[in-house]
Amino acid sequence: MTGNARLLLLEFFPGALCRNEKTFFFPFLNGLAKRAGFRTLWLCFGGDLKAAGDPAADRTIRAVLPERDLRTLAARLARFRPTRIVSSDLLPAAARRLVDALSPKPPFLVMPMPKEAGTSVKPAGAEMRAHAGVLSADPRHPRFLAKCGWFLDWLGARSRRCLSLRDRYLVEAVDPDYGAVLANPEALRSKAHITIMSGVLCSDRSALKDNPLYAGIGPEHENHRGCAFCGCCLEPAFSPPGADLPAVVARQFRAILRTGRGRGRDKGIYEFYDIGAFRRFDRVFKVILRLGVPPGVFLFNPRIDDVLAARPRIERVLPALAKAGHEVRILSMGVENFSARENRRFNKGITAAQVDELIALTRKWEKAFPGVFKPFKGGGDLPEFGIILYTPWTTLEDLRINISAALERGFAQTGYWLYSALLIYPDSPIAALARREGGIFVDRHPDRGVLYGAFQNDEDVLDVRPWRFKAPGVADFFAVMVRVSAAAMDGDDCAFFKDDPEFHALKRIYAEAVERARATPLAVACKLLEALEDHREVRRRGRGRRRREALLRSAVARLEAGRKPDSFARLHAPASAAARAVEKLFRSLSKRPGSAFSGVDLGAVTERALPAGNAIRIAFSVGGRGLVFDLLDARTPGPCFLVSRRFKAVLSPATPSSDPRERRVSEMLLDEIDRRVDRAA
Ligand code: SF4
Repeated sequence: MTGNARLLLLEFFPGALCRNEKTFFFPFLNGLAKRAGFRTLWLCFGGDLKAAGDPAADRTIRAVLPERDLRTLAARLARFRPTRIVSSDLLPAAARRLVDALSPKPPFLVMPMPKEAGTSVKPAGAEMRAHAGVLSADPRHPRFLAKCGWFLDWLGARSRRCLSLRDRYLVEAVDPDYGAVLANPEALRSKAHITIMSGVLCSDRSALKDNPLYAGIGPEHENHRGCAFCGCCLEPAFSPPGADLPAVVARQFRAILRTGRGRGRDKGIYEFYDIGAFRRFDRVFKVILRLGVPPGVFLFNPRIDDVLAARPRIERVLPALAKAGHEVRILSMGVENFSARENRRFNKGITAAQVDELIALTRKWEKAFPGVFKPFKGGGDLPEFGIILYTPWTTLEDLRINISAALERGFAQTGYWLYSALLIYPDSPIAALARREGGIFVDRHPDRGVLYGAFQNDEDVLDVRPWRFKAPGVADFFAVMVRVSAAAMDGDDCAFFKDDPEFHALKRIYAEAVERARATPLAVACKLLEALEDHREVRRRGRGRRRREALLRSAVARLEAGRKPDSFARLHAPASAAARAVEKLFRSLSKRPGSAFSGVDLGAVTERALPAGNAIRIAFSVGGRGLVFDLLDARTPGPCFLVSRRFKAVLSPATPSSDPRERRVSEMLLDEIDRRVDRAA
C-alpha cells in the first residue's frame, strides 16, 4: 500500500450498557489496516443514537451529530482525508453529505454485525451497508467476518504479506490497536467498554428436537440448540478451533496496556464476548492479574447455570480480585420467564430453583468480598435478570406467576423486565411455531410499545415480525405497563412515545399516583393485575384507550386504599449502609413534628440501579405535593436538580417541581442526609 492509504474508523458510543456488536472488531481492523500500510484514525463520538423512520414499522439506528460534532467531523475529514471509512452506524444526512463531498469519495462501510454477515438480514435503507457480497457466513471461507480476508479485500490490500493473512482469524493474526481519539465531551465521559474477542457467545446445548412443543416444526430447525427465539448458539466461533484462550486474552490486554488508560479507547471496562472465558474464569483472571491490569470492571454474559457450574473456579480467584481492586459484572443473564409454560416455549431451561441458588451464592460472595462479583445487570444491588414478560401467548396467570416471583425475590420497582416483549425474527423456531399455530402475525405491531425495550437498549430491530397478543387483557396490561414504565424512567422527555396520546394520558394518571400514593411501576403492575383478574370490573370498563385509562385509575385507587401485596414493603428495604442511614434519618425526622420539616411527609427510601450508577431513591411530599429524587454519587456526570457534598439529587420527571419552598425543603433535607451519611460512613 502507498503512504496515501488512510482508514477512518468512526465509532458512535451507545447510550445504554449493551453488548456492542458493531465495534467489537474495530481494534483488530485498526491493527490490520496499519499492517497493510494504512495510516489510521479511530474517532469516537459519544451522545445519541436515534431510530430512523417509523420505529413501529422498522428501526434503523442512525448516529446523531449535533452542529458542534459535525464541525469536528468536517475538520477531521479535511485534515485526515480518508481513503476508506468504516462506521459503527448509519450516518445522518448532514454527516453523510460531508463524507460524500470528499474527493475522491472514499468507500464507506457500515460495520456489519454477526447476524447480518452473509445473510439476507439487512436494515431498511441499507444502501450504505456495503457489505452485501463482501462477507461469507461460512467460517471456512477467508471472507468470514472473524477472518482477515474480507477486510483486506475491502481495503484493496494485495501484498504477499497481506495475502498470507487472508484465511487467518483476526484474533490470532492481528495485534489489536486501541489508539483512538475521543472526539467530544460525551465520548470522554462515556463508559463504553472494550470487547475482548474470541470463541462463541453462548454454548447452550439444549436441543430443540427434545422439546415436545417443537415436534415436527420443520427440518430447518432440526439442529437448533439453545433458546427458540435466539440464533446465538448457531453462530460460528470467532477464534480458530483449538485456540489457546489465555494466550488470545493476553494478546488483547497487552495491546490495551501498551495504549495506556485514558490515552485511547480504554476506559477500564472490558466485556468478554466468549462464554469460554467465563467457563475458564480462574485461568483468564490469572492472565489479567499476571499482566498487572489496573483495577477494572470485567463484564461477562453467562447463563445462570454457567455461573453455578463455574462456582469453584470463581471462588478460587475472588480473594485475588478483591486485592487487585477488580470488579466482575454480568452484563446480561436471562431467566426469560418464571412461568414453566412460557419458559418451555422459549426452550430456555432455567428454573426458579437455579435463580434462587444463584441469588444466595452471589450474596454469600458479596458478604465475603464486597463489590467484587456483581451478578445483576448494570452492577446493581437488586436482582435484575433478562426477562421476556410478554409473548403472543402470555396469559394473566403467567403474569401473576412472574410478578409474584419478582416480589418474592426483591426485583427493582421499575426496569426493563416490566415492559420487555418478545422480538420474533422470521428465521427463528419460535416464529415457525407461531406460523404453525396461525392468527399471531399481523401486518403492523398493534401496539408499537413492543419496540420500546429495543429502543431503550439502542438496539437495531431488523426484520422483526409484528405480532398480536392472544389474550386481550394481557394486551391491556402491556399497553399500560410499557407507558407507565416510560413515564417513570423518561417522563416528559420520552422520545419514543412523544407522539402517543395514550402515553400522555396514562403518564398524567401515573404522576398523580406518585404524588398521592408513592406509586412505582411494580406497585402499579400488582394492582393492575388485580383489576384485570376482577372480571366484573373489566366488563364495566368500556373499550380501547378509555378502558386502559380506567384500568390504571382502578389500579391506583387500589394502591391508595393500601391493599399492597404482602411482600411489597419488603422491597423498600434499602441494602447499603448509606441508604439505611437515610432511612433511619427519615424515621427519626418523622417523629419530630416540631422540627424544620413540619408539613413534610417523609416517605419511602429504596435503592435502585440506574444506568448512571446505584441510587438511593427518596420520596417525600411538601404541602401534599409528592417529590421523588434519585440520590447519585456527587461526581456522577449529567444534569440534576440539586447537588450536595455527597450526592447529586435527580428529580423524577414524574414529579416536576418549580416551587421555591419545595426546593428549600429539598436542600435542607439533602444537608441532613449528608450529615447522617457522614456519621454512618
Ligand atoms: S438467549 Fe442467551 S442463553 Fe439463550 S441461546 Fe441466546 S445467548 Fe444462549
